[in-house]
Amino acid sequence: MALKYLDQLDLKDKRVVARFDFNVPLKEGRKKMVISDSTRIDLALDTIRFILDQGASKLVLMSHLGRPKGKRVDSMSLEPVADYLAKELGKDVILTESCTDRGIKTVLGLSTTKIVLLENLRFHNEEVNNDPDFAKTLASYGDVYINDAFGAAHRKHASVHAINLFFKNKAAAGFLMQKELKALDKVLHKPSKPFVAVIGGAKVSDKIKIIEALLPKIDQLIIGGAMAYPFLAAKGIEIGDSLCPAEDVNLAKNILKAAGADKISLPKDHIVATSLDDPSPKQHSQISIEPGHMALDIGENTLADYGSKITRAKTVLWNGPMGMFEKEAFSKGTFGMARALAELSSRDPEAFTLVGGGDSVSAIKKAGLADKVSHVSTGGGASLEYIEKGSLPGVQALRFGLESTN
Ligand code: AMP
Repeated sequence: MALKYLDQLDLKDKRVVARFDFNVPLKEGRKKMVISDSTRIDLALDTIRFILDQGASKLVLMSHLGRPKGKRVDSMSLEPVADYLAKELGKDVILTESCTDRGIKTVLGLSTTKIVLLENLRFHNEEVNNDPDFAKTLASYGDVYINDAFGAAHRKHASVHAINLFFKNKAAAGFLMQKELKALDKVLHKPSKPFVAVIGGAKVSDKIKIIEALLPKIDQLIIGGAMAYPFLAAKGIEIGDSLCPAEDVNLAKNILKAAGADKISLPKDHIVATSLDDPSPKQHSQISIEPGHMALDIGENTLADYGSKITRAKTVLWNGPMGMFEKEAFSKGTFGMARALAELSSRDPEAFTLVGGGDSVSAIKKAGLADKVSHVSTGGGASLEYIEKGSLPGVQALRFGLESTN
């Protein structure tokens, strides 16, 4: 069954209850918490404006923020989100006390009320427990349900999963969800070849599933970051004091065996340091690293090699940094890869470049190149799980609906 999209539902005079991912970073302001990056809310605005323009009678917005673990935590209130939305939309946005207080129905009954934001869903344990009664209460606020929270679609939580029990044929995906799924489907099901995956970050064990899922589909696997060192160790190369958990070496051995040697690219030179605070890290032009030194970024020859493989690709998926990019001294490899993806996309309009996963997303943003690649996924965990499994619990429930087991 095809997934229904927002523009396929009749919203006129309907009460719409809609799930978004407003899980934005907050910092302490002078009097209250303030939003330090509004990207996730900004990306929801198209869906929100569309619902209002279609003549919905009420719009009830839902989201989680942080991990308050089932109780009210004032610093995780959605109040800054309500203020931001009101400013962007130029309309009143009423924030509720909780997701279940009786006053919500009264407020929704007022002709003057149009937009209501429910307080943080995760102030209630029932949200993460996928509680059907809690879902029923949320569902009672709307005639139709929209899910635009791609970043939460890998969770089996009440507002993205159990709630679908109550909206058979009256549920649809929002525009952001649609865009995310389209981008991932393109990479997973119809990648133009050559298809290159760039996987970096800290640990092989964290990325093993995505690597296994990708290997049959890709032409090249480029490996960077700390997770390159178990691969070099597995090939018998000296890696000095570079990060290298023993269990990762075994995983790396298996991947090398399964993939065939020429499908996997590994660093051939490095930026090394004697410690994380070494004031003078060095370009190290050999592949092997002596004891007392650790590799914290890919070297210049490796970057050139990886860059040229990206230049020839038609599809690139990037997840995970090439080094400890948070420190400037070890950021060249990661920012260099960000540039390589951006240059490919601007030179070849047919090439598709997708960045997914928390750290590579923050790297591409930091490099100022987020709008130069084809797609930057807003959901780190969700995009990885979608690549691994080809579906997400929240998307499955939205697509097929849920039957009550009672
Ligand atoms: P992940 O969350 O698995 O994508 O890992 C990202 C983290 O890996 C970042 O915080 C990086 O600083 C870290 N990292 C990347 N390369 C290295 C390296 N060569 N040595 C130590 N840490 C690294």
